[in-house]
Amino acid sequence: MSIDRTLICKNCGKEFAFTAREQEFFASKGFSNDPTKCKECRNAIKQRKIEQQTEIICKACGKKDTVGFKPNNPNDILCDECYQQKRQNMITSQPAAKEEATE
Ligand SMILES: [Zn+2]
Ligand SMILES: [Zn+2]
Repeated sequence: MSIDRTLICKNCGKEFAFTAREQEFFASKGFSNDPTKCKECRNAIKQRKIEQQTEIICKACGKKDTVGFKPNNPNDILCDECYQQKRQNMITSQPAAKEEATE
């Protein structure tokens, strides 16, 4: 049987409860490490990630997508799908081949 434990948040230094229920949840997921951040900090990080999402329009397929970072040029960006495809092409294409003009 697990018991509630008190841990210290590495982010804000506050004590937080790692409840028996959460410990069981962690164990069921196969996590062997204790959580390092309190719920508030974890939520704040999650929130920040959502706020960092930038809406883009893929220059290859025209699809609307969101990316988790601020692109330097939002008009010159690929959606995840096209980006993966491009990367795949780069891996499979001959490295010695001359780069074709895009125009
Ligand atoms: Zn915290
Ligand atoms: Zn695309």
